[in-house]
Amino acid sequence: MTNDIPEKVQCLIIGSGPAGYTAAIYAARADLKPVLYTGLLTGGQLTQTTEVENYPGYPDGIQGTEMMENFEKQAARLGCDIRFGYVTSVDFSVLPHKVVVDETTTLLADTVIISTGASAKWLGLDSEQKYNGFGVSACAVCDGFFFRGQDIAIVGAGDTAAEEATYLAKLCRKVYMLVRRDEFRASKAMMHRVENTNNIEILYNTETKEILGDGQVVTGVEVFNNKTLQHQVLDITGFFVAIGHHPNTELFKDWLDMNETGYILTKNGSTQTNIEGVFACGDAQDHIYRQAVTAAGTGCMAAIDAERYLAAKEHLLTAV
Ligand code: NDP
Repeated sequence: MTNDIPEKVQCLIIGSGPAGYTAAIYAARADLKPVLYTGLLTGGQLTQTTEVENYPGYPDGIQGTEMMENFEKQAARLGCDIRFGYVTSVDFSVLPHKVVVDETTTLLADTVIISTGASAKWLGLDSEQKYNGFGVSACAVCDGFFFRGQDIAIVGAGDTAAEEATYLAKLCRKVYMLVRRDEFRASKAMMHRVENTNNIEILYNTETKEILGDGQVVTGVEVFNNKTLQHQVLDITGFFVAIGHHPNTELFKDWLDMNETGYILTKNGSTQTNIEGVFACGDAQDHIYRQAVTAAGTGCMAAIDAERYLAAKEHLLTAV
């Protein structure tokens, strides 16, 4: 069943990570009466990490879940209408834009802010999920600090893995880099940086078989060399997965310009997409920085862009 008379909103925000809630805070304070749909993972990727130590304003660090609860409370206190729901389709061919939630509820929105985030790709091992947050991480910048002076492994051979391996090498005693083929995918410059870092040992033709632990935390990783057919256990306390991310933008692919991996393209220095009144922020459009604080920054930009767009439209209407 669908609703007969669609609800009309000025500003509809899709997604509840730092970008979405920050857009909500700014849009609410600009009196746009925003409505935010959380998606399935309320709070986004940060709810899947443990401690966040690099978000400014928390001198003692904060748990990711608690931080996102605070984002939500702040957005709600300022007047954002936060709803649990998953956007299942959009129609950006007409103004106002049409957005369908949970396949049943249609809303019409003057502006839409997309903050659907991205998801890390995982290897798909049970042990990887079991120890996620307890030695397994998909974000070196977020979690590397917890492994200072320790031995860790990182899987992947693209630019992200290369960048994260060199980042981790500054903090950790030893970094094993697990490369499944006999070559890197990363750019030559990044690859050379890895090769020239003394405490990184690159293991080529190496696949991850199982992450080992004591039931609480990671204690090692079993790897398999697909050339020599040898198994080996590496003693490590941290296991970083850097095999790519996929932006959660599938829903918009018929409407919005995207790069080849699905990140939404926005006009230089703004959050404006190729469709009037549709703005994108956070990890759905940023494949370079992907930090909570940068996502929050672009969420703020999206709300300001939406507010200015509506004000310019209003001005045109009253001028006619
Ligand atoms: P990529 O898709 O470029 O690389 C993924 C890597 O993970 C590949 O080496 C791939 O191996 C490996 N991999 C995938 N699945 C598995 C698996 N199951 N087991 C082991 N290894 C696996 O992703 P990135 O995140 O590295 O980069 C995404 C984009 O962002 C790229 O265009 C990159 O250039 C860009 N980027 C640029 C940066 C910069 O310029 N500073 C920094 C970071 C990213 P294989 O090679 O065998 O397929």
